[in-house]
Amino acid sequence: MGALLAVVLGFALRAARGSTTQRAATYTELLRIAQTGQAFSVEVNGDRFFVRQAGAETVTAVVDEPTLRQELVSRFAGAGASVDFASREEPSRAASAVIPLVVIAAVGFVLFSVNRRRSPKMFSDAKAGVARAPVRFADVAGMHEVKQELAETVEFLKNPQRFARLGGRPPRGVLLTGEPGTGKTLLARAVACEAGVRFLSASGSSFQEMFVGVGASRVRALFAEARKAAPCIVFIDEIDAVGRARAKGNGDSASAEHDQTLNQLLVEMDGFDHGNGIVVIASTNRADMLDPALLRPGRFDRKVTVPLPDVRGREEILNVHAGPIPLQGAVDLGTIARGTPGFSGADLANLLNEAAILAAREGAEAVDPTHIDRARDRVLMGLERKGVLVDEDERYATAVHEAGHVVVGLLAPNCDPVHKVSILPRGRALGVTQALPEKDRLMYRKEYLEDQICMLMGGRAAEMVILGTMTAGASDDIQRAATIAWKMVAELGMSDLGPICVGDGHPARSPALLDRVDETARALTDAQLARAVAIVKSRRSQIDALVKGLLEKETLGIDEIEACFPEDRRKRAAPQAA
Ligand code: ADP
Ligand code: ZN
Repeated sequence: MGALLAVVLGFALRAARGSTTQRAATYTELLRIAQTGQAFSVEVNGDRFFVRQAGAETVTAVVDEPTLRQELVSRFAGAGASVDFASREEPSRAASAVIPLVVIAAVGFVLFSVNRRRSPKMFSDAKAGVARAPVRFADVAGMHEVKQELAETVEFLKNPQRFARLGGRPPRGVLLTGEPGTGKTLLARAVACEAGVRFLSASGSSFQEMFVGVGASRVRALFAEARKAAPCIVFIDEIDAVGRARAKGNGDSASAEHDQTLNQLLVEMDGFDHGNGIVVIASTNRADMLDPALLRPGRFDRKVTVPLPDVRGREEILNVHAGPIPLQGAVDLGTIARGTPGFSGADLANLLNEAAILAAREGAEAVDPTHIDRARDRVLMGLERKGVLVDEDERYATAVHEAGHVVVGLLAPNCDPVHKVSILPRGRALGVTQALPEKDRLMYRKEYLEDQICMLMGGRAAEMVILGTMTAGASDDIQRAATIAWKMVAELGMSDLGPICVGDGHPARSPALLDRVDETARALTDAQLARAVAIVKSRRSQIDALVKGLLEKETLGIDEIEACFPEDRRKRAAPQAA
């Protein structure tokens, strides 16, 4: 614990004041920067750290505990950053008062960093397992399904030729979507390490440039490097910066630059040969903003959602990060996991880190529950500011809403079987109920579509019956239900109006007919909502059990769901047995 004593945090370099690109940081932040591998040069002057990041601001901090300094240095070096030790003179007060000098220095620094970024070395390249501590799948806590999905990519990279011979479709691009800090970078590194290949990484924002053509030439440089390094992983962090949809026809130079960069990326992805064994992994929080061209077959055609961890996942992550930290016996990781809904893996790592620092400041031998509580409050404050936190009322309302979908999904006879339900936010949806289509549903039947609408209405029905109100969380459901109902009436001839076709591209014969289509579609959704309400009312105690389970565990699998519906389960099983 001595290693954590006397850490003074958050002091800016006095000389840094003149520049707007610099910011005071904490020790914890520096650690995180080192972990994410974004620093490309680090200068250490006495106890001061001066960290330049690719495509991001420069941060400074004072770390006056030598062991911590050493730790930081080795982490940065391990991440491929150049580390320089300077013995500069203390800048005198007189010098920092001379503003022009500071400005000149700042300009010089900007030029210097532009220069650095232009060189091909801007891509941090950590030979998996050599330049930095290896990350195996085992080091990525939880996320069993995600790891399974990535296992194939590992197989391919291990032996591209053999993979092709066996008839596997080689993966080219994998898009990892999820909130920041959920471990996407960690996963990409783990894939490289498991496969024993090199890991080239660049941040999407490092391709954003003012001058037309510069971003595109960086993309070319990155892939040229990748072809030399193959088999390898090319990791593009926050690809939305470069991959956002192209603006149509608005000819200013910023969008011209953006379009050129994106086009270059598309060209490169189409250009490499499968036999080479290059896999591009990209991460984003906003898959909906990406240019559709990026998602076409042969580009990022594998999409893997990296969810926020549920209670079990959080406990596993805490277990991984608690390793080097001495904890008092009273600290229970399961309890912490239950008290941190909505925390990402990075938030949890941060929580333990902050607790350790608090303990060290007080000269405590080990981290106790009060340190954890205070650290949690600090992390929470940050999350509140970002507006990503879900409060208790909201969690309850989400649990009720999702339980409504589940109960209808179980009881409406033609629904796809529900296999999982979660109240963890995913993208912009508050919760999710997942149902797997049993067979190819090209031949949709009327009854299936009706049940589909009913299931979509299940969330709203539960809100009405149990909460006695309505939430905005149902808006997506309503949109989807209305779309299905409209199609049934307007295109599929599944209503009293008979086989009419007034859908897209088929101009309606009369406005009166369109009005009747609207009415009929609405009546259909209304009827299904009424049916959903009846189902919810008939299963109040079961829904209560489901809600309780969801609040406790956040994610429930099929067994846990069915345990809440013992009677119905027997009924469902019976016809199959017959
Ligand atoms: P992202 O790329 O999704 O923003 P990172 O991969 O950079 O997130 O994760 C940041 C840090 O959070 C990691 O370096 C690690 O310390 C911690 N972390 C996140 N998820 C996990 C996990 N599943 N297991 C262990 N640590 C995790
Ligand atoms: Zn819903």
